[in-house]
Amino acid sequence: MRKCLRCEAAMVEDLEVMVTNGGYGIAAKEKGMFKKSLGKIKCAVCPECGYTETYIDDTKNIKNLIPNKEM
Ligand SMILES: [Zn+2]
Repeated sequence: MRKCLRCEAAMVEDLEVMVTNGGYGIAAKEKGMFKKSLGKIKCAVCPECGYTETYIDDTKNIKNLIPNKEM
């Protein structure tokens, strides 16, 4: 469960981020033209104060970007 960083209420998770005016969803991606998406970005919203945070469910692609990881 995610807790709001501001007021510590339980956040509503697993919401989709939608781009208004046409686009649908946003994703994180390595810099560079031919890099593939690292994962779809979701968001969680605090029902008390409206604070919204974004996150990626599956972090394995992100972990692969960390240099010098233990073998
Ligand atoms: Zn809050």
